[in-house]
Amino acid sequence: MSGVVVEDALVAALADVLEADAVIYEAGALDYYANDVYRSGGLPRAVVRPKNVEALQRAVRICAEAGVAMVPRGGGASYTDGYILPAGGHVVFDTGALDTIEINEQATVVTVGAGVTWANLKAALDAKGLRTPFWGPFSGIAATVGGSMSQNTLSHGSTMHGISAQSVLSMDVVLASGEVLSTSASDAMRFYGPDLTGLFTGDCGVFGIKARITLPLLPVLPYFECLSFAFDSFADYHAASRKAAMARLDDSHFGLDLALSQGQIGRQDGMGARLKIALDVLKRAPNKVKGITQLLRMAIAGEDAMRAGAYMCHFIIEGFDAEEAAIKAKLLRRQLDGLGREIANSIPTFVQSVPFAPLFNVLGPGGERWVPIHGVFAHDRAVAFDAAFKAMIAARKAEMDALGVWLGTMFSPVGPTGFLYEIALYWPDDRTSYHRQTLGDEYLAKQPSFAPNDASRAYADDLKTAIVALMQDYGAGHFQLGRAYPYQPRLAPPAAALVRAIKSQLDPKGLMNPGALGF
Ligand SMILES: Cc1cc2nc3c(=O)[nH]c(=O)nc-3n(C[C@H](O)[C@H](O)[C@H](O)COP(=O)(O)OP(=O)(O)OC[C@H]3O[C@@H](n4cnc5c(N)ncnc54)[C@H](O)[C@@H]3O)c2cc1C
Repeated sequence: MSGVVVEDALVAALADVLEADAVIYEAGALDYYANDVYRSGGLPRAVVRPKNVEALQRAVRICAEAGVAMVPRGGGASYTDGYILPAGGHVVFDTGALDTIEINEQATVVTVGAGVTWANLKAALDAKGLRTPFWGPFSGIAATVGGSMSQNTLSHGSTMHGISAQSVLSMDVVLASGEVLSTSASDAMRFYGPDLTGLFTGDCGVFGIKARITLPLLPVLPYFECLSFAFDSFADYHAASRKAAMARLDDSHFGLDLALSQGQIGRQDGMGARLKIALDVLKRAPNKVKGITQLLRMAIAGEDAMRAGAYMCHFIIEGFDAEEAAIKAKLLRRQLDGLGREIANSIPTFVQSVPFAPLFNVLGPGGERWVPIHGVFAHDRAVAFDAAFKAMIAARKAEMDALGVWLGTMFSPVGPTGFLYEIALYWPDDRTSYHRQTLGDEYLAKQPSFAPNDASRAYADDLKTAIVALMQDYGAGHFQLGRAYPYQPRLAPPAAALVRAIKSQLDPKGLMNPGALGF
C-alpha cells in the first residue's frame, strides 16, 4: 500500500497494490513513454514499474478488470512502434525493476528478470567466465533480455549461435488474466513437444508480459582475433558474408557501407572514447604483446580503416586459446580469398572492447533523426534486392537532397540461410523527449539541432514505407515487427487462423499491446 491519493481511480488502484515509486502518472514523465526511438504515440494514462512477479500480476489484474490496454516496455530502444499506442490512454508496463539475475552454474543456466539489460547480464556472467550463446544487441546498455526475446534480435554471438530466440530455454509470462504461464515442461531442455517457448519469442508482447527468462550458459572464450575486409561491390560483400556465415568461424560479423563507416560508426572514436577503448583492449588482451600490436595497428590505420572500400566486413573470432583463435582467423581468410582485401581491424577491435556503447546513435552523426529499416533475404534474392533498392534511391535522389534526407546501409548474417540488409535513414528534424532523456542535456548541448521539419519527416516516413514494400517484393522477412512490418497478411490462411486462435485464448479481450502484429 503506497497511500498515494490520486483522482484517477485506475491509477489510485495501481498505486494501492504497488510500491509508491512504482506508479508514474505525472504528465512530463508520461511524455517520455509516449515515444520510441522513431515515432511519437498517444500519452499513456500511467506507467507501472513492478518490482517482482507478484506485483506485476496484481497490476495486470487491475488493468484487466478496468478493460485498459496494457503495453509492455523493456529498455525502450526499439523503433518499430512496438510499445507506441497511437490512441493513448493505456498503461505502460516498464519492466526495468524486474532485474534479478540468478546464475545456476551446476544446472548451466541463468534465470533473469525480464528487465535485466544485456550489459548487466554480461557483467554478472563475465565475473564467472560464463556467457549466454547470443549475448545481446549493440543497444544492450539499455535493451533488456525481455525486450529482445519479445521482438527477435541479433548481433553479439549471432554467427556462431543465432538470434535471441535461439538462446532461451523457458519463460514465465504473465497473461492478460494475471495468471503466470510457464513455457517449460522440463528444467533441462526447451524442445519437449511443441515449442511453447518459441511461441512467445517475437510476439511483441501481444501474448503477455514476460516476467522471468531462463537462458543456457557457455564458457567465455577469452582469446580473440579481429579481422576486417574491404569490398568494391555489394555482390562481393554478400558472397563473402554468405561464405563466412556457412563456415561459422567467427562469433559475430557485421558489414557497413562507406556512408555508415564514416558517419554513424566512425564518429564513435572521439579522443576520450579512443583512449578508453585503447585501455580496454590492453586490459582484456590475454596476451599483452598482442594487445599492444593491435593498438599499434589501429593507430597506424587511423581514419583510413573507415574509408577502405565501398563495403567493409568486420569479424570477431574467439578461441579457448590463442592458437584456436589464430587457426579460425586463418581459415576465415582462406574462405574470403579473392573476394575482398584485408584492412586494419580498428572497427571490430572497438566493438569487441566496447560491445554495448552509449546510445549516441539514436541520432545521426550530424544530430539528425534516425530510423533503421531492415529485411532478411534469402541469399539468392539479396543481390537483386540491392540493385532494385539502388534504382529506387537514384530515382528519388533529387527529392532526398532537397529535403536533407540521406541513408547508409549495414548488414548481418542470419544463420547460414538469411542475409539481413538494414537501411538507416537520416533527416533533419527536432528531437523528442525520448532523445532528450536518453542522451541528456549535456551531450545534446554539443550536438547540432534542427527545428521541427514536417516535410522531411513525412518524406522519410513515406520512403520507409516504400522500402518495406520493396523488401516484401523480394520476399524479405523481418524481426522487431511491432506496428511497422506486416505480419498476419504474410501468413498462409491456416497459420493466420491458428495465431488468431492463440491470441483469443490468451487475451480474449485484446488488452495486451493492441495493434502490434496487427492484432
Ligand atoms: C543504437 C541502437 C542499436 C541497436 N542495435 C541492435 C542490434 O545490434 N541488433 C538488434 O537486433 N537490434 C538492435 N537495436 C534495436 C533494439 O534495441 C533491440 O531490438 C532490443 O532488443 C530492444 O530491446 P528493449 O528492451 O529496448 O525493447 P523495447 O523497445 O522496450 O520493446 C520492444 C518490443 O518488445 C515488447 N516487450 C518489451 N519487454 C517485454 C516483456 N517483458 N514482455 C513482453 N513484451 C515485451 C514491447 O512491447 C515492444 O513491442 C538497436 C537499437 C538502437 C537504438
